[in-house]
Amino acid sequence: MNNNNPEQAGGQREAGMKCPKCGAFIRTSIFQLLTTNALVCPSCHLRLNIDRMKSKPAFDALRKVQAAKDNLEKKSHFNR
Ligand SMILES: [Zn+2]
Repeated sequence: MNNNNPEQAGGQREAGMKCPKCGAFIRTSIFQLLTTNALVCPSCHLRLNIDRMKSKPAFDALRKVQAAKDNLEKKSHFNR
């Protein structure tokens, strides 16, 4: 059993989702998820609209990750 919690696992993870039609892995990034409103499957070209309202908790989690990254970048600038 693998008990990893994706929301608590830090560091660089591959972001993406499985295509509901053909099962191919659609690779994306946190930045892309936050800025785009649709993903296209590279295998069957199915267009997946991202419903921001429905997936709001997920986007909140992603925003926190992004904010933490921004903080780190700011700190590293101060340390110069
Ligand atoms: Zn597909």
